[in-house]
Amino acid sequence: MSGRDTPRIEAPLAGCCHCGNVELALETNMRPEELSLRADTCSFCRKHGARTTSDPSGRVVITVHRPEQLLRYRFGLRTADFLVCGHCGIYVAAVIAEGSSSYATVNVNTLDAVDRFTRPLMPVTYEGESAPERSARRKARWTPALIVEEGRQPSEPDSCGSGGAASKAVTSTAPTMVCSGVEHE
Ligand SMILES: [Zn+2]
Repeated sequence: MSGRDTPRIEAPLAGCCHCGNVELALETNMRPEELSLRADTCSFCRKHGARTTSDPSGRVVITVHRPEQLLRYRFGLRTADFLVCGHCGIYVAAVIAEGSSSYATVNVNTLDAVDRFTRPLMPVTYEGESAPERSARRKARWTPALIVEEGRQPSEPDSCGSGGAASKAVTSTAPTMVCSGVEHE
């Protein structure tokens, strides 16, 4: 039952905000049942009821279909961008950039497999950290991340959990309606 001899490669864990503007694909060899589940006690995470996870050995691709509708909220030491969809208001992930590399922690509540995260919720507090300590911790624990901000691609249909086929990182401020077909309910 250990599964030790079986390949541990699972499909990326897909997720998105409520309206589908921001999509996640968390590539990890760990099952959701094995991934850590953290509840940061900072006021931002508490107000959102956020539960986060990361895998330093994995990778997360964050695809933003309408970059002009993405909020990058900063507070406290202002060392990370908390990505909030400006259209539906969902907190999706926090991201730091170090040179050309980015690292993210994702809000488990936005993942399709949310119900499979069964590890005990671990309350965490990072209040006493300095900015360098915080940066070092995040680089060690967060997931290497790729942020894809799409330009206008009218021919591409969008749906949550489609795996993020987009590869263009063209930032555009032009109004776009590429997500007009996304409704989940
Ligand atoms: Zn949204």
